[in-house]
Amino acid sequence: MIDTHSHIYAEEFDTDFDAAILRAKDVGVRHIVLPNVDVASIERLHRAERKGVARNAPTLHAAMGLHPTSVDADYQTSLSIIKQHLDTRPYVAIGEIGIDLYWDKTFQNEQVAAFETQVEWALEYDYPIIIHSRTAHNEIIRSLKKIGRGVLNTPSHTPLRGIFHSFSGSIEQAREILRLGNFKLGINGVLTFKNANLPQTLQQISLNDLVLETDAPYLTPVPFRGQRNETAYVQYVAQKLAEIYQTSIEEVDKITTENAKSIFTGICE
Ligand SMILES: [Zn+2]
Repeated sequence: MIDTHSHIYAEEFDTDFDAAILRAKDVGVRHIVLPNVDVASIERLHRAERKGVARNAPTLHAAMGLHPTSVDADYQTSLSIIKQHLDTRPYVAIGEIGIDLYWDKTFQNEQVAAFETQVEWALEYDYPIIIHSRTAHNEIIRSLKKIGRGVLNTPSHTPLRGIFHSFSGSIEQAREILRLGNFKLGINGVLTFKNANLPQTLQQISLNDLVLETDAPYLTPVPFRGQRNETAYVQYVAQKLAEIYQTSIEEVDKITTENAKSIFTGICE
């Protein structure tokens, strides 16, 4: 399996990082994508990625970007630091980036500008994007269509491609995303929550359009809801998907892994 979205470089894992990686290995995780949050998180991100725990442990892949809730009046300074890192070494993706109008709309214009700049970088570097979209579906789609004109829905050399992380929207929103051409929906522990509408929505969506994620340490699936989330718990998301699609966990693993690799072209083997 591939956990396409995990913040296990966060301080919540300071005491048991190595053990958490090995638990992920034991449930069959081979790759973990680590999206960045802000300038302050970069050092932790790089340190975690370098750590390399044990032979045959999952490979950690850093993504670089500025999270929408970290965009403020001084966002251009943060973006210039992010850009320096992108110019220095390879990353598996640009992320996480997006628009979040749920918590705070104060910097809405700045959030849109920061998002669009980073989407342009994705095209420049030929990287996929990891999108955080909260109460901002229409704004995100508008920006993607604006920046991605000519490369959306194409198999061209640098198609705009990526993942709508933590998707929990309507069937109409899912279809609008999939019509963009090269995007997948990231599914996490929210799927297992009692009041979730997501299982019904997914019944009208193909497993070929989904990837697994955790968003650890957040969004912990049942039966551990309320506790810290970690990559090994991605198994409960896979299990729930197997129920919804009436197939085996092995099949969910195989298909979602292929889906993730089609987006993260930097992840091989
Ligand atoms: Zn995240």
